[in-house]
Formats: sequence, C-alpha cells, structure tokens
Amino acid sequence: MATPPMIPLADGSAIPQLGFGTWQIPVEQCAEVVGRAIRLGYRSIDTAQGYGNEAGVGEAIRRSGLPRNAFTVTSKLRNGGHRRDLALAAFDQSLRDLGLEQIDLFLIHWPVPSQDKYVEAWRTLIELKQEGRVRSIGVSNFDPAHLDRIIGESGVAPVVNQIELHPRYQQRDVRAYHKARGIVIESWSPLGPGGANAGFWKDFGLGRGGSLLDDPVIAGIARKYGKTAAQTILRWHLEQGLVVFPKSARADRMTENWNLFDFSLDSADMQAMAALDRSDGRIGAEPASFALLF
Ligand code: NAD
Repeated sequence: MATPPMIPLADGSAIPQLGFGTWQIPVEQCAEVVGRAIRLGYRSIDTAQGYGNEAGVGEAIRRSGLPRNAFTVTSKLRNGGHRRDLALAAFDQSLRDLGLEQIDLFLIHWPVPSQDKYVEAWRTLIELKQEGRVRSIGVSNFDPAHLDRIIGESGVAPVVNQIELHPRYQQRDVRAYHKARGIVIESWSPLGPGGANAGFWKDFGLGRGGSLLDDPVIAGIARKYGKTAAQTILRWHLEQGLVVFPKSARADRMTENWNLFDFSLDSADMQAMAALDRSDGRIGAEPASFALLF
C-alpha cells in the first residue's frame, strides 16, 4: 500500500500530503466511515469543532487498534470561540470529544474579521502549543492581510493555512505569498464544486458553477492515464506540493481518492489545467466577510 509523502512544516514537524476530510459526515456515521478510511490506509484526518463529529473521529482512532502516533489529527476552533476563555474551553471540549491528550494540528477555522478577535484566538493557540497540548498551530481561510496581522502582532507565523483551492480557483498570487513565508497550503474542497459541499454554500447564494468532475479538459487527461476525473484533480494538487484530504463516505470513492501514487501529470497536462482557473471560480464564502458564528 502506497504511503503518501510527508510535507515538512516550519515548526519541524510534518504531515501526510494526503488525508481524509470529514465535513458533512454526521457524527453517528463518522466512526464507521473514518474506520473504513483507516483500513484503506488513511492516517491523517481533518475534522473541526463546527463539523460536530470529533467524537466519531476519536472513536474510529481508538477502534483501529493502531498507536496514537500513527495518526495526524487536525481540528479547528469554532467561529464563536475566538475569545481566550472560550477558545480554551472549546479546545478542552475537542480533546474530550476526540478522546486525545494532544491534537496534532489545531487551526482557527475562519478569521471572522467583523468580530475582530482572531489575534486573541491566535495568541491562545500559541499558548496551547507552548503547553504541548497541540503539536502544530495554523489557520484556515486567512487572507494575506489577516496573516500579516497575526504574524505582525504575535511574531509567530502559522505553519499551515487551509483555504479553498482547486483548478477553478487556483489562487496563484496567494500561493506565492505563502511560499515566501514558508506556510504550507492545505486545499479545501480540492475537487471543486459538484457535491454536497456546493449544496451547503448555495444557502449563502454561493456554490456556483457546474461540477468540475465533468470538465472535458480533465476528462481528457484522466483518459490518457486510465484514471478518473477525481484522481486527476487530486494529482494536480499533489504535483504542486499542496496538502489534500478529499471527503467521501463511499468506499469506492475513498479507494479511488487514495490511489494517486502510480501516475503523474506532465507539463502539458499542468498547462491545460492551469487554463481552468476562473475569476469567479470560488465556491465558498469570502474570508473577509464570512461571519457565521457556529
Ligand atoms: P471534496 O473536494 O473532498 O469533495 C467534493 C464532493 O465530491 C463531495 O461532496 C464528495 O462527496 C464528492 N466526491 C469525493 N470523492 C469523489 C470521487 N472520487 N468521485 C466523485 N465524487 C467524489 O470536498 P469537501 O468535503 O468540501 O473538502 C474536503 C475536506 O476539506 C472537508 O471534508 C473538510 O475536512 C475540509 N474543508 C475545510 C473547510 C474550511 O473552511 N477549512 C471548508 C470545506 C472543506
């Protein structure tokens, strides 16, 4: 079974380049679904307080019988928990729900600039790391302006930023900013619009665009390698050093999304996919204005 490469982080630790996402997996199914992912080989699991399924992730890890250090567990601070006391309480609850003593990677889920508390949240994450309760700390959905502010005010840079990124929304300038500062990008919704994720954003008037999985350019490249559209898109992320954790509750798709290490895209494929970038390709909310306080 192929093992995904490890991506080094600026704090000296590392994370698997391919993991398993759990957004929209209900807690009552989560232990079973994540358990299946673990049996297929996945060892890095992305969850969040806002997904309401940390208990299922913890249950799957315990049931696997594998040692704790076989796993990389990521969780994220909820938007309504940025104030220091609330962040500490929410973090304690995550540890209880996961049944863990330490979280490998803990992120601020969204900056929510309207409540102007993300610097306080970031300082609290720095404390948690200093106490050894978190191995690595990072952020999610932070624009360069938000990153500049936390780095400027705390002197500590996040090791990762988890942002929307896929062939329809390639964020080239943003990637250059991260590269210059040694911040690893994790691509959320790596397969782009088309599934339950876009359905969620439609309630906010977002989630536009047809399925990226039906794109003819991607279909052509996939045919060339005898791979699926999903595998081709995920390989596009891997070629560029991006970290991905596709989500599916279906065993066939989980297997498909794991089998990415027996082919690679050539420069013509990468050029063809570079042309799929669209100025209106974002499916999710704008980090500067998203203010849902879950
Ligand atoms: P995804 O890109 O992993 O999948 C998109 C849709 O495609 C899903 O609805 C899925 O059911 C479907 N799909 C998966 N594999 C497929 C395959 N092989 N063939 C056909 N369809 C397939 O979307 P996602 O779940 O939005 O993102 C992945 C993970 O990123 C999430 O589960 C979550 O862990 C994380 N995430 C984080 C944020 C954030 O704000 N930080 C936001 C969204 C997602």
